[in-house]
Amino acid sequence: MAGAVTLNGIDGLIKSRAVRLPPAVEAAYEADRAAFLAMAARVIVLRLIITYNVLLPIDFWVLPKTAWLSVALHFLVVTPCMVLCGLMLRRKPGRWVRDSVLAMMPVLMTLQVMLIFRLNSGENAWAYQYLVILVMMSANINLQLDLRFALVASAVTAVIYFGTVLPSGCPQAVKIIAAAIFTTGAYFSLQARQPIEYGQRRLFLRKLQEQLRREEAEDVASRDALTGLSNRRHFDERTAAVWAAGGPVAIIMIDIDHFKLFNDRYGHPAGDHCIKRVAGVLSAVLRGQDDLAVRFGGEEFVLLLPGTDMETALQIAERARRAIEGLAILHEASLTGRVVTASLGVAAGRTSEPVQALLAAADAALYEAKRGGRNRVFPPFMAVEGKGKWRAAG
Ligand code: GH3
Ligand code: MG
Ligand code: MG
Repeated sequence: MAGAVTLNGIDGLIKSRAVRLPPAVEAAYEADRAAFLAMAARVIVLRLIITYNVLLPIDFWVLPKTAWLSVALHFLVVTPCMVLCGLMLRRKPGRWVRDSVLAMMPVLMTLQVMLIFRLNSGENAWAYQYLVILVMMSANINLQLDLRFALVASAVTAVIYFGTVLPSGCPQAVKIIAAAIFTTGAYFSLQARQPIEYGQRRLFLRKLQEQLRREEAEDVASRDALTGLSNRRHFDERTAAVWAAGGPVAIIMIDIDHFKLFNDRYGHPAGDHCIKRVAGVLSAVLRGQDDLAVRFGGEEFVLLLPGTDMETALQIAERARRAIEGLAILHEASLTGRVVTASLGVAAGRTSEPVQALLAAADAALYEAKRGGRNRVFPPFMAVEGKGKWRAAG
């Protein structure tokens, strides 16, 4: 989710007054909310079921004629439907299904209250119908519905409520008060969602900010400051992971030739610049996320190539050697040629042997490359004519 936005961008979003976030961040927020709701849904639904059924004795006091019908509706229709809704929410449905399922619950409760109201008449029935207002408000506040779904649920409830109460035989005063309380209740409870949604999104942004800061700190801690390549610490972490995964692995050790003479001739800052450019070349020969380029020491680098055999590693090493030479960085003090070059030692094996053994083998190969005249890969290899393939020579 962090890929969607930068730290600076988040700062701006936290300060902004808009409730909704840009689409990519909004999608990340939705995913986070979905994970939370999958956990919280059971509690939310259970709380609603309990509140709904705790109010059932009202029927026996106020409308005893239909009280047992109400019990049947509570326990045979509405509560089982709500339990079903709760079970569906546990299966982590998509956003639309989730909010639609949640929004159905106040509608079901409203239908039950209105049915009982229709089957009765007189003062007690006129008082009973006010329960719908409680249902609508608690749904708007407690169900964690997206504002738009809360609006739709309130609208559907309003249609059922007004469609039943207004044509009924209630006195005018009851209808006016019912309409007034329902409308203002809906307005206030929907209004209340606005700051809640704003706050929830800001909380999410703070969490995202924390995560990005952590990732940034980890990134800084795993990189070499001069070149931006991985450092030894990161190399150790990655080798641990590669060795844990098992399989073939190759290591290429690279050392710039006669670099002391380069520094002596052109100065340390020019030396730094040269190291950076060589590092750039090494990054460019990597094949993907699994390969790792490491600044191992001053002018020494390592390529860690999981899942790679000797032949492929030799191809990569030769590509790197040519690319470094191809930078054509003038090195008039070099004893090898007139440009900066490097020597490369290659070792390939399996993770069944220790990391140190493979590193030592690559180091020994590098030593041989230096001894053999520098600007070369060891073990040596030669081209297979016409096929563009390489193989180790002897
Ligand atoms: P060889 O071909 O045998 O590798 O010779 P070399 O001169 O490259 O090897 P040596 O180990 O004698 O010298 C390495 C030099 O690299 C010495 C040091 O001044 C230089 N060096 C190490 N780290 C840095 C760095 O970060 N910046 C610069 N500019 N130079 C560095
Ligand atoms: Mg060197
Ligand atoms: Mg060296």
